[in-house]
Amino acid sequence: AAVIVAIDGPSGTGKSSTSRAVAAQLGLRYLDTGAQYRAITWWMLTNGIDVNDATEVAAASGKPSIVSGTDPRDPAIAADGADASGPIRTQEVTAAVSAVSAVPEVRARITGLQRAIAAGAGGGIVVEGRDIGTTVLPDADLKVFLTASAEARAARRSGELKAADGSAAGDLAATQQALAQRDKADSSRKASPLKKADDAVEVDTTELSLDQVIECVVTLIEK
Ligand code: C5P
Repeated sequence: AAVIVAIDGPSGTGKSSTSRAVAAQLGLRYLDTGAQYRAITWWMLTNGIDVNDATEVAAASGKPSIVSGTDPRDPAIAADGADASGPIRTQEVTAAVSAVSAVPEVRARITGLQRAIAAGAGGGIVVEGRDIGTTVLPDADLKVFLTASAEARAARRSGELKAADGSAAGDLAATQQALAQRDKADSSRKASPLKKADDAVEVDTTELSLDQVIECVVTLIEK
């Protein structure tokens, strides 16, 4: 039977790297749900929607097509036919995504897409996000909740920023503050907040290498 794996947790815990590697190793599909929220946010920013106006965001939430690739080795994403893979990683999108994803109409739209993708993934899928185990796929075969200390998360994220644009490492303190702010917004919103599902296995990755986290999740799936 198709195995459905939900991997949730705050940013900087290694969710994406872990989920992609696990999916590639086990021949499963992969869905980055953060990329979907980023893509709809990017579309709104580039189409003149005031992302801080929840009424405007709700009214626009059904407009763009959001199409996710599910190949763990090449997880592309498009909004209204335009490749959004690059622009969704900009600071502008990162700063706006929590406000957009807190709007219930946006969540309903994106959650529907996520469930359809999971249902259509014949051989199984790893779905990563914030509310996959609690809301999107409550019947997942395995739920993992990744955590890490605030310091470890900021250090990983600032390393990623450096790698992404080839410039100097991001300012660690600023990164830590931005992450904390986003996690707070994601955890305290009314609509489907970031939360560990009661039946999720919590893995603290602070002292673990990426390979160790991958091995841990693969072992849990094969159990
Ligand atoms: O994982 P990533 O950092 O790309 O997620 C970007 C944002 O998308 C999160 O900060 C959160 O606001 C939103 N998100 C969400 N629910 C998910 C995945 C992401 O609200 N399942």
